Amino acid sequence: MQIQLNYVDWQHAAKANVGNPWVRNVVNAEYLYNRLAELHIPCTIMEPLLGGRLSKVPNHIVAQLKQREPEQSVASWAFRYAGSFPNVLTVLSGMTYMEHLQDNLRTFCPLHPLSEEERRFLHHTADLLMQYPTIPCNDCKYCMPCPFGVNIPAIFTHYNKCINEGNVAEAQDENYREARRAFLIGYDRSVPKLRQANHCIGCKRCMAHCPQGINIPGEMHRIDAYVERLKQDISAISS
Ligand code: SF4
Ligand code: SF4
Repeated sequence: MQIQLNYVDWQHAAKANVGNPWVRNVVNAEYLYNRLAELHIPCTIMEPLLGGRLSKVPNHIVAQLKQREPEQSVASWAFRYAGSFPNVLTVLSGMTYMEHLQDNLRTFCPLHPLSEEERRFLHHTADLLMQYPTIPCNDCKYCMPCPFGVNIPAIFTHYNKCINEGNVAEAQDENYREARRAFLIGYDRSVPKLRQANHCIGCKRCMAHCPQGINIPGEMHRIDAYVERLKQDISAISS
């Protein structure tokens, strides 16, 4: 039986597939795999890279993966994860370029199954990815112009860049002060004030045009609330 399995979908399937029009009735891969194993039905795995997202993880996570295996690609961790389960028959992988095929061959011939510690490390990595997920905006600009002047792709690009650089953080995080500064200064530089997320009135006119199915007003509201939290913290410190 074919199931969607990767180290994020193992326990975060619902959150990881928000806005994905192809995925309905999302169930964690942990449940799907274990149920099939109980029934002795071998699995074929689709989406081992979660639609390519696990080959393009934020820079601070790339650094952790490279520290452990400098010669291995980021994608190879996800392939090893999917291929290490005993009840998995086949791992399906979309390959566009010769390098993808070569990387797959290096990973699977032979496959070095993950140790229990490596599996725990990837589950922790999945927790981090889900704590601060990027927005799947590809800057196509089909949603533009916004009648209220919001620069939708520029806001998402800035937000994603900050996530990639580890500059989206909450007060309890170690790097909060530097992250807050980098986010706010970069935001004003990349998006003029009149075009920032607080000008979104939630009319939803942009949503029908987004091929990625992003809940644009919802994300604008979330980003604006985050920006407001960062600003209030600055005034609290300076007063
Ligand atoms: S929902 Fe917000 S971003 Fe979208 S068109 Fe309306 S005001 Fe602009
Ligand atoms: S249409 Fe969607 S993917 Fe394209 S720029 Fe707008 S938000 Fe991003």
